[in-house]
Amino acid sequence: MSDPAVKTASIKNTAKKVFIKTYGCQMNVYDSERMNDVLVPLGYGATDRPEDADLIILNTCHIREKAAEKVYSDIGRLKIIKQKRHDAGQDSLIAVAGCVAQAEGQEIIRRARAVDMVFGPQTYHRLPDMLKKIADGSKSVIETEFPTEDKFDGLTSKAGPKRLSHGVAAFVTVQEGCDKFCAFCVVPFTRGAEFSRPVSQIEDEVHQLVKAGVREFTLLGQNVNAYHGADPLGNLVSLGALLDRLEKIDGVDRLRFTTSHPRDMDDALIETLAKNKAVMPYLHLPVQAGSDSVLKAMNRQHSAKEYIDLIAKVRRAIPHLALSGDFIVGFPGETDEDFEQTMALVREVTYAQAYSFKYSIRPGTKAGDIKDQVPEEIKSARLARLQELLLEQQLTFNEKSLNQEFDLLLERQGRQDGQLIGRSPYLQAVHIEAKDHKIGEIVRVHVDKVGPRSLSAHIIEQ
Ligand code: SF4
Repeated sequence: MSDPAVKTASIKNTAKKVFIKTYGCQMNVYDSERMNDVLVPLGYGATDRPEDADLIILNTCHIREKAAEKVYSDIGRLKIIKQKRHDAGQDSLIAVAGCVAQAEGQEIIRRARAVDMVFGPQTYHRLPDMLKKIADGSKSVIETEFPTEDKFDGLTSKAGPKRLSHGVAAFVTVQEGCDKFCAFCVVPFTRGAEFSRPVSQIEDEVHQLVKAGVREFTLLGQNVNAYHGADPLGNLVSLGALLDRLEKIDGVDRLRFTTSHPRDMDDALIETLAKNKAVMPYLHLPVQAGSDSVLKAMNRQHSAKEYIDLIAKVRRAIPHLALSGDFIVGFPGETDEDFEQTMALVREVTYAQAYSFKYSIRPGTKAGDIKDQVPEEIKSARLARLQELLLEQQLTFNEKSLNQEFDLLLERQGRQDGQLIGRSPYLQAVHIEAKDHKIGEIVRVHVDKVGPRSLSAHIIEQ
């Protein structure tokens, strides 16, 4: 799981307005886009102002501490907006979606009466039905069961909503849920068991996105390299084979995938990473900790040495790989020595980029019941040391890009006039002056300047 982000979806100028606030991981960003796609045929366009919205959706994440409390405090603010709109003769609905909705269910309506709808991550394809129930007079709607039908069926069938594009790089969920049950994680409870979408559904969605101008696709899954969807003949296809199939679609220029689990990193995927030119040389492979006793307590199902050996194998196949990871410091029972083993692993493996957090209790998880919690000040001190080391490694990785040339996909406008920002194959943000170029172009660049968080480059005329 990666860095928390809060974004709003953005399609404008339609009769009714929806405001979606997205908390958490890329999969939530994807889900919010799909909710938007579901709502467009119902006449909704996106707004980034809750004050203008007929429908407000909080697409929540349960990964951080006090996630539910943050959602309740947001609802408190939205309740005032809802009341003001009501007083002005404009009604609005508040919906809580995502993992907090899944975990809290009915409790949300009990605690926050301003909320009209609560629905989990597996049910947003039912949004039209939920809205109809409210329109028909239901006081509130709660949908937190795991439905028997496949939500993606409803989203990709011919009658389903079109996949709308929100740029030149898009997420495509290929796998959801998880059977690994890491002791700190709520995903197996909020997203359910591991599920892989059929190949043809994914190909259809990618075709739609290519038509809409997307050039780079990031395949998403909580445990993406456990992907094993069926092809049209009923044969199970691995993630490596799926990437190889998608690369053949005309218009698919770049492919990425996240988040992988070390246990599911098979040779076929390593070979695809090494040989498939469209698959970018970037791998997000979390280890979480460097101590075997902590890894065991986390139920990660591998040792530190197995992880280190795996990375060495991947690097033998792809020497220039950009490796990314996730770390949790201060897991219950983590000693000073355990933490030093994490530092030693980071020094040995070396990362291009990584996400690191202090352990926090997520209700309902096994680790939440462990009594031996690490004091907050120790967690903070360990995190500061780890982040300093990771940032140093990020700068070292970026420094290797100085005076290098590579292809850059221009993704968005920079702050300055004429400046565009793109992503390198290694997922670095690269700033360039590009007055004569447009977003969506892939240009060859030479890197002139590097920093820990971004690079500057100029276009090489070819
Ligand atoms: S692999 Fe572990 S951390 Fe990742 S989603 Fe599954 S249970 Fe959560």
